[in-house]
Amino acid sequence: MTQFQTDDRVRPLKLNFAERIQNRLKKMAAPGEEDVEPPSSIPKLVHQVFLDALEERATDVHIDPEKDFLCVRFRIDGILRDVALIPSRHAAQFMGHIKSLVDINPTPALKPVYGSTVYTIEDNEIYLRVTCAPTIQGEKISIRVLEPKRMRYSLEELGLNPDQKEMIDGWLENMNGMVLVSGATGSGKTTSLYALLHELKRLNRSVITIEDPVEYRIEGVSQMQVNEARGITFSEAVRTMLRLDPDFLMVGEMRDRASAEAALAASATGKVLLSSLHSRDAAGTVTTLRNLGIHDYEIIAALELVISQRLIRRLCDKCRKQIETPSEDKRWLEAIGIDAPKESWTGVGCEYCRDTGYRGRIGLFEIWKVDEAANHSILKRSDEKSLRAALRKSGTPTLLEDGLAKAAEGITSIQELRRVSSYGFGITHH
Ligand SMILES: [Zn+2]
Repeated sequence: MTQFQTDDRVRPLKLNFAERIQNRLKKMAAPGEEDVEPPSSIPKLVHQVFLDALEERATDVHIDPEKDFLCVRFRIDGILRDVALIPSRHAAQFMGHIKSLVDINPTPALKPVYGSTVYTIEDNEIYLRVTCAPTIQGEKISIRVLEPKRMRYSLEELGLNPDQKEMIDGWLENMNGMVLVSGATGSGKTTSLYALLHELKRLNRSVITIEDPVEYRIEGVSQMQVNEARGITFSEAVRTMLRLDPDFLMVGEMRDRASAEAALAASATGKVLLSSLHSRDAAGTVTTLRNLGIHDYEIIAALELVISQRLIRRLCDKCRKQIETPSEDKRWLEAIGIDAPKESWTGVGCEYCRDTGYRGRIGLFEIWKVDEAANHSILKRSDEKSLRAALRKSGTPTLLEDGLAKAAEGITSIQELRRVSSYGFGITHH
């Protein structure tokens, strides 16, 4: 067995790409000439990794240093999987080539460094955002792979049900105030914001965005990138944008006091504002705004609609089927006070889904129209828990309820809801 063979950690994937990367590695070093691999093979290997990442719909590629090799991992539908091991003696060249693509100095970095580029694969242009960071095991690289062609621009495709779509359409007809998309990291907030921008564009409104960084370019929308090093801070960018007299502003993310205050200041001038922030559910958004130093009276003056979301894996269309609900799913449902269905959907696993039972992801949504009653309780300094209880009483479906509806339809599985809930789903049910 040569050291290029797929090892146990990689084998369970049964993925084509792991094999192809391995084949390329084998070609680089035929038996007996392990030390004379041509350096020209490294760029081909790196290209193969990106080609496979694209084909397997990976959103991120990680290159992790381990004792005798680099482990290449893909994040597919939110889950990281080992795909290939690259022997240490190729490590420096392999890392170096990736860094050279994004103009990062190839010598090992002593502090985190970033770079990005447009990379062409066949007819596809993809954006690569590379982060290199020193770790105690050695240098680690992670690469965000953005593929504009794959971007979903319609709100329906994101997974909104008809009632939820209607709430958003209602706002679009009579736009004012601030709309926040909230969720955890990797919950698809950016995708939703971009889908909203596309709706606004269709309405022929002037839209300007401030992003850090600009993830996708949208035709007909002016996008500005925050660049602290060049003095373009969030507040500076907002001031500039307001002078351009847009109908709408989008501030990519309120991630600190400065960006939140800048966004609120824009909203206070009467402009319609879209933004995103980190929170576990709709009610949690108020807590996040408070923690960012925004006063309650500013929140109620601006906040119109909160779109809270979470991504879950979709069952594979080709192999999903109904089975008797497994006892662990039943126990979980009962523990959160929900009657378990007799039968439920599962993914058996097939070639199309690479034996995972899932392919692609869809959003779960909780949409909160911040009305008079909500404003009143925010002003009364109600905490997150009471805001959440009030929201339930008003009949707004929770992320969990949206998830259960999608599981009943066979779009996802109860097992997947259970998995996601263990990452702090924010779906405690009362
Ligand atoms: Zn399948």
